[in-house]
Amino acid sequence: MTRLEEQIRAEIVEAGRRLYARSYIASNDGNISARLDERRLIATPKGVSKGFMTPDMMVIVDYEGHRGGGEREPSTELPMHLEIYRNRPDVNAVVHAHPPVATGFAVAGIPLTRAVLAEVITTLGSIPIAAYGTPSTAELPEAVRKYIKAHDGMLLANHGAVTCGRDVMAAYFNMERIEHFATISLVARLLGRENLISREEVERLQGLRTIYGSPAPAPLCADGPDAPDGQVLCQVLEAPESARRLVPDASFAPASRDGEIRLTYGQLTALIADAVRTLKD
Ligand SMILES: [Zn+2]
Repeated sequence: MTRLEEQIRAEIVEAGRRLYARSYIASNDGNISARLDERRLIATPKGVSKGFMTPDMMVIVDYEGHRGGGEREPSTELPMHLEIYRNRPDVNAVVHAHPPVATGFAVAGIPLTRAVLAEVITTLGSIPIAAYGTPSTAELPEAVRKYIKAHDGMLLANHGAVTCGRDVMAAYFNMERIEHFATISLVARLLGRENLISREEVERLQGLRTIYGSPAPAPLCADGPDAPDGQVLCQVLEAPESARRLVPDASFAPASRDGEIRLTYGQLTALIADAVRTLKD
């Protein structure tokens, strides 16, 4: 086994551990994969908790999904991963999970497309919802195909979320970012208002994307039909392939994470209880 393969297997184990520890998955849910070389992928096995994997559990598959190593079967969601690799040659890893707040938005049919957080605009941009597809069928890869060329992460209607990145941890951090954004959006909506960032500032922030390091193109933003005066509602529009922008390896660093506010579920529950109490008063 090469050093690269060892490293990828270790990163998948670590990402699975974090997904489970943060309750982004329950039981045996979720799956992770990464490119090993131009012919092969390493993927998580089906039927095991991703929070308790060991490096030897991984499955080797080719880009058609045929098994080429490992004793276990790959996830039945593998075709969704393969679709992402086919459409995004710049991407080396895919993470799928069911983070509860983001999945709540996916169940409610509410995309995370409002320009409210500078950090999200400079990284993921907007987060659309791919149409519902029956898990383990060709419907899910088809639904994902619509957005994956312009987005590093999306919600999956009535299901969960999927993210990609230049390596396993980058794809994992995009999943964290979506759940964090969903949590803040939920709190703001419970509090009764969302102050949107101005169009001028959105354009400035989009210009900073190469510095903050998202390999996906900036999703386009336009005035929303219900946007208050002088403010912007970020809408999901198809970006042309020519708009895709790659950033150098050196720019991969979760540099903007230092300023993040993290909420535990206990703190979130307390905030929601406070908000509901205020609304009742
Ligand atoms: Zn799933």
